[in-house]
Amino acid sequence: MIKKKDILEKNLKELDEVCDECKQKHESVTHNLILTGFKICYSCRVSKTIFPI
Ligand SMILES: [Zn+2]
Repeated sequence: MIKKKDILEKNLKELDEVCDECKQKHESVTHNLILTGFKICYSCRVSKTIFPI
């Protein structure tokens, strides 16, 4: 049986605040993940907005 604590620890591991683009740790990564679905930091999000691929 999966304990609630185990699920929380797994989620915390995924939400390690490390940007997928620049591999920098930043608190905005989790915020952007929730808002945009992309695991990127604020600066990468801005650069993606200015230069969309
Ligand atoms: Zn970044």
